[in-house]
Amino acid sequence: MRTPVIAGNWKMNTTVGEAVALVRAMRAELDKVSNVEKVLCPPFVSLAPVGELIKGSSIKLGAQNLYFAEKGAYTGEVSALMLAGLCELVIIGHSERRQYFGETGEVVNKKVAAALGVGLKPILCIGEKLAENEAGKTEEVVSGQLKSSLAGIASLDGLIVAYEPVWAIGTGRAATGEQANETIAFIRRNISGLYDDKVAREIRILYGGSVTAANVAEFMPQPEIDGALVGGASLKAAEFLSIVTQTSAMG
Ligand code: PEP
Repeated sequence: MRTPVIAGNWKMNTTVGEAVALVRAMRAELDKVSNVEKVLCPPFVSLAPVGELIKGSSIKLGAQNLYFAEKGAYTGEVSALMLAGLCELVIIGHSERRQYFGETGEVVNKKVAAALGVGLKPILCIGEKLAENEAGKTEEVVSGQLKSSLAGIASLDGLIVAYEPVWAIGTGRAATGEQANETIAFIRRNISGLYDDKVAREIRILYGGSVTAANVAEFMPQPEIDGALVGGASLKAAEFLSIVTQTSAMG
């Protein structure tokens, strides 16, 4: 059995004060929910304060990015080793990073390797753009992204994949449960080809793209979907909590 994961990607939202208030508003209730791995991914500057607030709870902490170099003259960047002392997971290859910061498959691959190298669990994001979807290229795109992201990576060690169709992120236009399930099944078959059946059976693959409390029930009963990466709806305590509790109830 794969334990479902609900990860909140706060993106570039919340000051430190707002992040602390958001965690305070949901910490106690979130902590109580069992059978779901709950992950909060605040901005870098809030990792330490949020980490302090959730210490001793069942809530896990993730970062939203890292830089692959070990250390040195990379002004403004944050290394995997710096994060390893603060959090357990890290989002890598989010479509917004690919789109606005020019992250290529090669860069994503180096970041995945850097994370795994220090024991951080990557949440590796892949997904097709609207034009690619409409041209029937979804499978070609996600298999290409998977292959380039995982090139030379011998062991996945807790890595989570998030299938996030770009056209569904922040648009309010989620995929259907069936669409997401089908593509995630395809991703799992790809992982079996790149690694083996056991790795494919055990890896968690999430859906991401406009998941809310109102539509989460569409996704979680699907057999291939192991949780969700949630953007906008993770910034509202009651809504995120509802997504997590509904997921737990459907397990
Ligand atoms: C995301 O940021 O990964 C995401 C899925 O955003 P949203 O839920 O807002 O579509």
